Amino acid sequence: MSGRDSCERTMESPIPEAIAKRVQSVLTKIRSAEEKAGRPAGTVRLVAATKAVTIEHIGEGVRAGLSILGENRVQEALPKIAAYTKAPVHWHFIGQLQRRKVRSVIGLFDLIHSVDSLDLAQEIDRRAREAGRQQNVLLEVNIGKERTKAGFHPDDVIQSVQMMAQLSHARIKGLMTIPPLTADPDLARPYFRTLHDLARQIAALDLPTVGMDELSMGMSNDYEVAIEEGATLVRVGTAIFGARHV
Ligand SMILES: *Cc1c(COP(=O)(O)O)cnc(C)c1O
Repeated sequence: MSGRDSCERTMESPIPEAIAKRVQSVLTKIRSAEEKAGRPAGTVRLVAATKAVTIEHIGEGVRAGLSILGENRVQEALPKIAAYTKAPVHWHFIGQLQRRKVRSVIGLFDLIHSVDSLDLAQEIDRRAREAGRQQNVLLEVNIGKERTKAGFHPDDVIQSVQMMAQLSHARIKGLMTIPPLTADPDLARPYFRTLHDLARQIAALDLPTVGMDELSMGMSNDYEVAIEEGATLVRVGTAIFGARHV
């Protein structure tokens, strides 16, 4: 790339080659973080957060090696999923899910990261049963106990998960969190560690239908720290597609 190009094209509007390069760079950093943490290669999967990203730019990312795409809004996800029915990609739902949208997401997403209440889990279970499917989900934990954030309170999640253990069609696979925004990624570490501890406590209950193999934590700013603390899924948007304008 010429110097002129790199001056004119900033983080804000990545050209296709920039997306491909960034995908490679993020994948490389994931592998080094795994290695640094003494974890086997391939234990961490990259979920590319594609909210506000165009179908064309997503395509560049997929050609460069993305295989899991995470969307926040049902309405925005539908045309994107339709555009990639023949591509080897999987879709995850990572945004806040409204109860009335549950029916339309069953079967579209391999994993819903953001189940934030018992009521939502029950609705997913009911709609998945109607559709004759199993729906894999993660429970979102508001690990920083922030008023503005969704998710189970960390003190309640163990009791809630015991109530959810009876659900037959919503399958709990692990936990997810979005820690408080910090300037230094290392400040997020205690939150990631707390989520990992919670998952261990839940796993120790040995509930028959509840798995705790997945930990969805870490975004553009802090995914390497999250990997050191046990993340199995990192959700990365900006570091791949550039800054969002919406
Ligand atoms: C947008 C989003 C991300 C990605 O955030 P970046 O900082 O752009 O990497 C991850 N998780 C969720 C739930 C998101 O909404």
